Parts: sequence; C-alpha cells; structure tokens
Amino acid sequence: MAAPYAALGTTLDVLATAPVEAIGIDLVRGEVPAALPALEGKTLVGGVIDGHNIWRGDLDAAFAKLEALRDLGASHISASTSTSLLHVPHDVDDETALDPRLVSWLAFADQKVGQVVTLAEGLAQGRDAITDALDAASAALADRHDAPGVRDGAVRGHEVAEAEFLRVSYAERESAQQALNLPALPLTTIGSFPQTGDIRRARAQFLRGELPADDYDDFLRREIDQVVALQEELGLDVLVHGEPERNDMVQYFAEHLDGFAVTQHGWVQSYGSRATRPSILWGDVSRPAPITVSWASYAQSLSAKPVKGMLTGPVTILAWSFVRDDQPLGETANQVALALRDEITDLEAAGIAIIQVDEPALRELLPLKAADQADYLDWSVRSFRLATGGAAAGTQIHTHLCYSEFGVVIDAIRALDADVTSIEAARSRMEVVADIARFGFDHGVGPGVYDIHSPRVPSVEEIEALLRRAVDELPLRQLWVNPDCGLKTRAYEETVESLRNIVEATRRVREDVAVTV
Ligand code: GLN
Ligand code: ZN
Repeated sequence: MAAPYAALGTTLDVLATAPVEAIGIDLVRGEVPAALPALEGKTLVGGVIDGHNIWRGDLDAAFAKLEALRDLGASHISASTSTSLLHVPHDVDDETALDPRLVSWLAFADQKVGQVVTLAEGLAQGRDAITDALDAASAALADRHDAPGVRDGAVRGHEVAEAEFLRVSYAERESAQQALNLPALPLTTIGSFPQTGDIRRARAQFLRGELPADDYDDFLRREIDQVVALQEELGLDVLVHGEPERNDMVQYFAEHLDGFAVTQHGWVQSYGSRATRPSILWGDVSRPAPITVSWASYAQSLSAKPVKGMLTGPVTILAWSFVRDDQPLGETANQVALALRDEITDLEAAGIAIIQVDEPALRELLPLKAADQADYLDWSVRSFRLATGGAAAGTQIHTHLCYSEFGVVIDAIRALDADVTSIEAARSRMEVVADIARFGFDHGVGPGVYDIHSPRVPSVEEIEALLRRAVDELPLRQLWVNPDCGLKTRAYEETVESLRNIVEATRRVREDVAVTV
C-alpha cells in the first residue's frame, strides 16, 4: 500500500493495522512518524527521494530519514521515491545542451532510481558503503547554493512595499476605462489564434537554423497582419495579436527570463496522451529585456481598436515549470511577478491599454488539504496583484482562468481584482453565470460562449441563448463576450465560422438590450 503526495498524519495508525505486507509513505511532504507497534512484521517503504521535482537534492538527509524509520517498529525498511516517477523526465544525460553545472544539480527519473539504489545499499551495508555518493550529492547541493544566478543581488535588493499590491478602487478604474469606448457586450478572444502547419514549420525551420531570425520575424508579422485583419473584418471590439510566436504560453516566457533553463527532451505527461516539456526554474528571476512588447505594439499599429497585450501569470508559470525547492513558492512567484510588472509598464508605454494576465493554473495548484489552501491562495493572489498592481487606472487588466468551477475559488478571483475575468462556460451552458450572480462579483466577466475543445461550430441561435441567459443573470455593464479559451488548437475554418456566429448572436442581443435599457 502506498500513500504518496502527502503527510499521512494519524491515518498511518489505521493503515498500520491493515492486512498488508508493506506500507509506502511520503517522507518528502510528510514527517518521519512516531513509533508504531502495529508495524511489526511489516515493511515500511520510505519515500525519501522527491518524485515531484527534478533536483538531485540532499541525499544525506534522505538517508538520515530512512535510518530514523528503523526505530519505528517495522520489521524491514526499504527506500523509494515519494511518488511515482510520472512527473519527471526520463534521463538528464540526454540534456546535452544544458549547462553542465546545472545538470550536476539535477536528477531525472533514471538518476532518482540510481539514488534509491544507493540508499538501499546504505540500508543493507551501512552508511560507510555509500559515503562517496552522499558526499557527491552534498557537494552538488553546496555548489548550487553558491552558484551565480541562484541568488541575484539585484533581484533580492528590491524590497516589495505593500502599496505595490494595490491599484486604485475598481470604481475609479471603471470610470478611467470609459475612455476605451467599448460597446455593450464587448467582443474579444482569449489570445491565441490557430497555430497552423505553416507557423509550426516556420518555427521548426528557425530553430534548426534554416530560417534566419529576420525572416522568421517577418513571417510572424505577416501572420499578425492576417490575424488583425480577420478580427477587424469579423467586427471584434478588443483585438489580439494571436500569439504566433509562442510555442507554449509558459515556455515562451521561460525562454525570455533569466533564472530559467529549457530542456531538449524533458517531456512529461500532462493529461491523457498529451505531453509537455516544463522549463526548469533554477535561479532568481529577472527580465533582461521586454518580451511581448514588439508583437503587441506591432499589432496595435495595424488597428484603431484596442489590442490586448497578452502575458502568462506567475502562478501558471510556476505550475507548468519545474520550480526550485530552496525557497517558498510565494517568493519565487513574486520574482516572476516583478518581471511581469515591468513588462506591463513597457506595454503601457508602448500604447497598449488592455493587458491580459492568464492564470489558468490558479485552480490546478490549489492544495488538496483544506489546511494548506489559505496560505496558497494568499501567495498566489498576491503574486498576481504584484504583477498587475503597477498598472494605471485607465489600463484595463484582464485575466483568464479556463475552468468553470467558479465557486471553489470565487474569493480568490475577487481578490485578484482584475478588471475583467474570462472563464470557461460553454460546456456548462452558462451555469457558472448563476454562480457568479449568487456569490456576488461586480467586476467585468466574460463567460465563454464557444467550446474550443471541439471542432464543432456553435450556431447563432445557440450562442444567442447562452448570451441571453448571461444577460438575464448579470448586469449588462459587467458582461463580455468571448470563447472559452484560446483558439490555438482549432483550425481556421471552424474558428472563423464560430467567431462569425458569435458576432451575429451578440448583434442580436445588443439590439434587444438597447431597446429595453
Ligand atoms: N492566452 C492563452 C491562449 O489564448 C490562454 C490559454 C489558456 O488559458 N490555457 O492560448
Ligand atoms: Zn483557457
């Protein structure tokens, strides 16, 4: 019986009496338990190697935990990882392009199995048999602690003041943002447009060195030309540049921020048959240069309508990367937030008046244990507010959250204090709007009207019905019209048809509300 992913607490007392031969416990998240006579005759498997991260870690401390287990009363002790190795890539030796110094601090699945074998040897033959391996791991840990970039004085020198988390009141912002001149039920999208075969090919050619950087840049600009022209033609109100330059909404930022490294082969399963290649956040995070400004301002130069700047939020960047284990996540999140905060300042200076900071992973990272949730929600919300808190009153901050269990995190969403929040709603037929009305939420909200997980084109009537439900439940001034999520996985044909239907449905509903208001 294995109990990965958490401390067992008093549950172990019960499990110890269960008719099983062996019990595996997570000693990375959990503590070494107190002595338990019921363990007699059983094997206790100590999950002392972290199955969740990619660090080589403190092998000596891991061995000390196993030795402590010996006193608990079990008949046999064995070594293991804290979780299955599903969350880590295969073999760090495949990473020939990574800095060898960084590589020496890492352990992927193969290396973790090697560590377990070492610890087992130590249990069988005594500590002396494995001192070399323990010392080598300790030396790597010390080297990592002192390496340049892991602790960057310039990043750490910034004392965050409480005022940096605060914008002026929503009422003040709402009135300053009147200058955006948006119609009732403003129409927008979540950011990405279809990532076509052409885009993927051009990126691959550029990465192989077959397409010069200037040509790739030109290619992306032609793509943005088309995406902006399409949105104008459709009649959307707030445009996007379409994100053609991004392979992935987190990796793109990781590639442009200091403190991150990108692997070549570090694939892990994300869900079902999908895989992702998380970046490694190994050092203090800073932004050597603006990241998205040239794309957003190019798109803005093509249209008189507002173009939304598009950033990935700190929580999502952390959730979809391998994070450092040597400081609290909240501290790392604030470093990312400060980099994004500078990006927002630069976007504003370039004339971008609406900026979206995506946080689709906010719910995903919520701890399972109720006792841990308040702390998580506190640092996650604060990092978002630190990222966005420097925006002028007239700059409209949007966020996007994917999932539709609004109720679970409504307080957090309220605390994010974004001016507009878009959320998935099409599949639940707008049920979430009733939740929003019930919980009370007075900022802008864009419940999705187009399920982008399917190639199906929603009809005008169907979208109209969803919109009418939203208009019935929530004040008109709050409502936005948008798809459930980004369009990058969709093909153009169905995307254009769906957007056309969304525009037509919105036109019909606007006509009615204009009569009744
Ligand atoms: N802006 C991103 C996109 O449109 C958001 C994606 C997401 O929420 N997962 O692709
Ligand atoms: Zn989404």
